[in-house]
Amino acid sequence: MEKKEAPKSSLDALVSLCKRRGFIFQSSEIYGGFAGFWDYGPLGCEMKRNIKESWWRATVRDREDVEGLDASIIMHPATWKASGHLDTFSDPMSMCKGNCRKLMRADQIWDIYEDSTLCATLTSMLGDAGKIATWCKTKGKSAAPGLYTVQHPEHLEAIFETLKGITDAKQLLITLATPAGEAEALPCPNCGGVMTEPRPFNLMFKTIVGPIEDPSNVAYLRPETAQAIFAEFSNVMVSSRQMPPFGIGQIGKSFRNEVTPRNYIFRSREFEQMELEFFIKPDEAIELLEGHVATLTDTTDLSVPQADWGWECWHKYWVEQRKLWLVKNGLPQESFVEYWQKPDELAHYARACVDIEYRFPFGVQELEGIAARSDFDLSRHQEHSGKSMEVFDEPLKLAVKKMSDEEKAAFRQKTVADWEARGKSAEAANAFIDRLFEGRYIPHVIEPSSGVDRMALAMLCNAYEEQHLVDEKGKEDIRTVLHLAPAIAPIKVGVFPLVKNKPELYNLAREIFKKLQRRYNCFWDESGAIGRRYRRQDEVGTPFCVTVDFDTLEKDGTVTLRDRDTMQQERISVEDLIKKLDDLILG
Ligand code: ATP
Repeated sequence: MEKKEAPKSSLDALVSLCKRRGFIFQSSEIYGGFAGFWDYGPLGCEMKRNIKESWWRATVRDREDVEGLDASIIMHPATWKASGHLDTFSDPMSMCKGNCRKLMRADQIWDIYEDSTLCATLTSMLGDAGKIATWCKTKGKSAAPGLYTVQHPEHLEAIFETLKGITDAKQLLITLATPAGEAEALPCPNCGGVMTEPRPFNLMFKTIVGPIEDPSNVAYLRPETAQAIFAEFSNVMVSSRQMPPFGIGQIGKSFRNEVTPRNYIFRSREFEQMELEFFIKPDEAIELLEGHVATLTDTTDLSVPQADWGWECWHKYWVEQRKLWLVKNGLPQESFVEYWQKPDELAHYARACVDIEYRFPFGVQELEGIAARSDFDLSRHQEHSGKSMEVFDEPLKLAVKKMSDEEKAAFRQKTVADWEARGKSAEAANAFIDRLFEGRYIPHVIEPSSGVDRMALAMLCNAYEEQHLVDEKGKEDIRTVLHLAPAIAPIKVGVFPLVKNKPELYNLAREIFKKLQRRYNCFWDESGAIGRRYRRQDEVGTPFCVTVDFDTLEKDGTVTLRDRDTMQQERISVEDLIKKLDDLILG
């Protein structure tokens, strides 16, 4: 079959496939749905498990320097005071004062507008003041009832000349929404009303712990998994006999009361995160231990961690590790970009932060972040809990012991100058150096933080293709296929008996199915023509299908192995089949 150029798929087609084939459903659909919450169906939950399993393997199990954690979702409320979430974890929120009274994230108003039919309508009328005026007096009444000019058509006369010159749909909405004689309004992208000034809105979900509804019993659903890792840092380090550099990884649910959950599962109110906190020695400790800190250049070999790495090398190392993982799991390098936050975008404590951004159908957006967070988190928990988060590093103490007083003084002078250059006080620097000379420090941390649901969405978007096929007779057909990486695909192998009514053939196929099912998730399908069965598997991303046919029984015992992406089939013996599938699926 010949393949024609495939059209770029829209998110709508993917959403409909995901519902139809049991990947993702709207939560509480029977009650009209619940914004920001999603349910993963039979195939979706398999896929999510595969993503988590692959992350856990690469980040935790396959490494000797990372331990796992599964902490509670509701933690002591003091955690969120210490982490800063209670005071600063908020988004700017505005409310429509017009007809619809909708709440929206103020920084997303223009994105929401760009996706709206109101924007499409206004764009189609740009420059045609007469048409805009007619629309305001007619269709505008239902399309944008909150719009000032719709409610006050007499105002059209005053702005008629201005309307002729507007070439941008955003400016047109502002002009139509701004009441006569007032400063430019922030318009509602839904009804055209005026939005309130943005106010900070804390994103944490509150709950009450215990039977008494008293403010003292308020607790929060965690907005990220990371804080439990910091809170358990000492317990994990001591019980697992680790020392920095080492990490703690965790996968689990997080909750954010997002003002405007949107773009399908990209931004939801309940989601899962895969977070690693990788604890490293401060650069000053590396300097004392190794005599220098490795400088990061374009040619630094980042494949194997080295003793002289400071935060810069470790941070870049994790950026590279995460990129390798993404590519290995089916997201090609060209599908995402690395965005290095500029100094003025960084949180005050962060040394660097890289967002890996994926080209979603609705724009290039953050998929995951890798931040170098200094010792901020552990220091805050030490301060708020009164419990030490320091580690005692015997080799460091011994290294300092060998230094002369002049060497120590020179080190102190240089360190104080470095700290002051970064806006810290000499007093703080000296206190840090005193502890360091005793072999004690609070570890710094590199945080690769990623969302399971966003990852699933990126993988689904990347995998989705509608192929236009033309067969030998010139008949055209559309094949919908998900090119998911075998490790991520919910079903690894579809097994089919060519016919149902030949017991020997049927039982042999069943035997093969049972054998394969012990190794990975397989699907048995005995209904319909073989071509239809292949298509059903293509649509859900099953990378391989095995068909047992008459030749299997009557000729050489071989089965047909069909590849989803090439649609090629090969005949292979049952023994070779298992080995080959193991190589292709388990790697
Ligand atoms: P955004 O800027 O998109 O709100 P963020 O910078 O607040 O994201 P982080 O706090 O760094 O995100 O969270 C780490 C990861 O968790 C994100 O990269 C993303 O994959 C995931 N994540 C965060 N918020 C959500 C959400 N509301 N829905 C789904 N995934 C999320």
